[in-house]
Amino acid sequence: MTPPVPSLTDTTLVADVNARLRDVPDFPKPGIVFKDITPVLADPRLFGRVINAMSAPFRGQHVTKVVGVEARGFLLGAPIALALNAGFVPARKPGKLPHRSVVERYSLEYGSDGVEMHEDAILQGERVLIVDDVLATGGTAEATARLVSRLGGELVGFSFLLSLDFLEGPNRLGRERVTTLLTF
Ligand code: AMP
Repeated sequence: MTPPVPSLTDTTLVADVNARLRDVPDFPKPGIVFKDITPVLADPRLFGRVINAMSAPFRGQHVTKVVGVEARGFLLGAPIALALNAGFVPARKPGKLPHRSVVERYSLEYGSDGVEMHEDAILQGERVLIVDDVLATGGTAEATARLVSRLGGELVGFSFLLSLDFLEGPNRLGRERVTTLLTF
């Protein structure tokens, strides 16, 4: 028998992930509480449930590309792409990609940076899901969405493992486009 598809309202899953997330105070700078997802990834059953739950709202939405944001967005985005039968596209820090690329700048909760994708990573009209581990201010995801639109992609939505809502990321991205398993 096929197991039921978990959803983002799976409260048992939320509690299980919450129990395994590690808060690291003052990393990478004083005043930042870093949300370390590595204990979640290290548990194969929990990791699988997370991937199912983050993919579930986008099943049947004809997503053709999943963009994962460097670096932890790769770890979640690649298995979500496989779960949705979509291709995977890395959005990288500037200067890392070998082929001709397009870049967008953004400001972070800590510092400022840019995000870059290969210019042929997304084809005109492709339906795109953007994935990352943590939504903080939303600057990274917003810049990634601008890249998707510059390349002619249609943004289906954003999927995050967790959102730090007090930093207003969902408002910046548009609440209706954001799904997240945990909210702080
Ligand atoms: P932002 O652009 O402010 O939404 O920042 C999101 C990016 O920074 C994501 O790629 C996150 O992985 C990372 N990030 C920001 N704040 C945190 C945090 N408190 N813990 C872990 N990662 C974070």
